[in-house]
Amino acid sequence: MDPAEIARIDAEHVWHPYGGFPASTVPRVVTSCAGVRLTLGDGTEVIDGMSSWWAAVHGYAHPVLDAAVRRQLSSMAHVMFGGLTHEPAAALAAKLVELTPQPLTKVFFADSGSVSVEVAVKMAIQYQRSLGRPDKRRLLTWRGGYHGDTFAPMSVCDPDGGMHAMWRGVLAEQVFVEAPPRDFDPEYVALLDRALSRHADELAAVIVEPVVQGAGGMRFHDPRLIRELRRLCDAHDVLLICDEIATGFGRTGELFAVDHAGVSPDILCLGKALTGGYLTLAATLTTDTIAHVISAGEAGGLAHGPTFMANPLACAVAAASLSLLDDGAWRAQVEMIGERLTAGLGALDGTPGVAEVRTLGAIGVIELDRDVDMVAATDAALAQGVWLRPFRNLIYAMPPYICTSGEVDRIAAAMVSAARAGLAATVSREAV
Ligand code: PMP
Repeated sequence: MDPAEIARIDAEHVWHPYGGFPASTVPRVVTSCAGVRLTLGDGTEVIDGMSSWWAAVHGYAHPVLDAAVRRQLSSMAHVMFGGLTHEPAAALAAKLVELTPQPLTKVFFADSGSVSVEVAVKMAIQYQRSLGRPDKRRLLTWRGGYHGDTFAPMSVCDPDGGMHAMWRGVLAEQVFVEAPPRDFDPEYVALLDRALSRHADELAAVIVEPVVQGAGGMRFHDPRLIRELRRLCDAHDVLLICDEIATGFGRTGELFAVDHAGVSPDILCLGKALTGGYLTLAATLTTDTIAHVISAGEAGGLAHGPTFMANPLACAVAAASLSLLDDGAWRAQVEMIGERLTAGLGALDGTPGVAEVRTLGAIGVIELDRDVDMVAATDAALAQGVWLRPFRNLIYAMPPYICTSGEVDRIAAAMVSAARAGLAATVSREAV
C-alpha cells in the first residue's frame, strides 16, 4: 500500500493511544525496522530513541529473535492454555524463576502489562480473602505512578496529574501518599509508615514502580526507599507488588530495579522488554506461599485465564530475548548509554525553561517547566534523524541497548533540539 493511502485510512478509521478523530498528532507511517532504525513512509531512516516504549531492547529484526519466532512457528503458533501446556511456556517460566529474586517461583503469563497488573491485584486480594481477611482489599500507592489503562491499574495511577483523572468516581478508591522524593528521606519513610498503620486493616497490598516512576512523570527515587517499603509492608502485614513492566530487564542498570535495593516483592509484574519487544506478553510472578494460600481458598485457584495466555510464539521469543542478556554484555552498554546521555544533555545546563535533566541506567529525561508543543518537539528530533515521543513537559529517551556511542550522541542531541523547539513553540503556562 502506498504510504499516503495508509495514512488516509488510518486517519479515517484507526484509534491510536489516547487518540481521537481527527488525530491531534498525525502518526508517521513506518514501513520497516532493523537494528536501531525505523524506515518511514518517505524512505527516511531514523534512530529509535524510545525502544518502542521500553520494549525493543535488542533493536529490531534481531537474527536470534527472528530465528526463535520462525522456529516456533514451524511447530505451533498458538494453542489454548487451559488443560494444555508446552515447552516454550515451561522453559520461559524456569528462566524467569532463575533470573528474578529467589522467593518468586510461580509465574502467570498475561498478554499485556495492564493485565499483569490486574492479575497482581487479584492475587493480592484473593490471598487476603483466602486467609479470611475480606476487608483487606484496597491498595496503597504513591502519587506520580503509572500502572496501565485497565480498571485496576487506572485506580493506582496518579489521580491528579495522571492520565486518568476523568475516571474519578468510577474507579476503586485506593489510598495515595505523596510522590517519593528524589533523595532518600527518613521523613518520607515515616509518612509511609503512618499511612500503612492507619490503613493496614483494609489494605491488600502496596503497589509501586521501584526506582523509576515511568509514564507518570519519569521520576527517580533512591532504592533504599524500596528496602524500607519492604520492611514496612512486612511490619504491617501488607503485600508488596512491584511493577517492573518498564524497569525490568536491565533498563536501570540492574537486571531488575528491585535488585538495586536487594529485596524481593511478594508479587512482580513484568512486560514490555520481556519479549525484546517482539510480541505481546507479560508475566506476574509470586511466591510459593501466596500461590498455595490462594489455591486453598474458596475459588480453588487464581480467577483469571486469558485466551492468549502463554502464547507459544511470545514465550519462545521471550526466552531468546533473555538468552541475549545471559552474557551480561548489556551492563556495559547500559552504562555507556547513561554516560553519553548525561554528557549530551549537559548542553542544556542553565537553559531557561529546563527544570531538570536526569539520567539513570539507559534512561535520559529532560523535564521542562511547561508542557511542550509535541509536534514541534517531535519534528525537531526527526530533523536530526531520531524518533522521540515527547509527552507533556517531558522529553525522554530509553534507547535500545545495541546503540553505538555515536547513535546515543545523536539521540541526546535530538533531545536537546526537541526541548529547544518544544519550548520555543509553546506559550508558557504563566502567560495563558
Ligand atoms: N506498568 C508500567 C510501569 C508501564 O510503564 C506500563 C506501560 N507503559 C504498564 C504498566 C502497562 O503496560 P501495557 O501498556 O503493556 O498494558
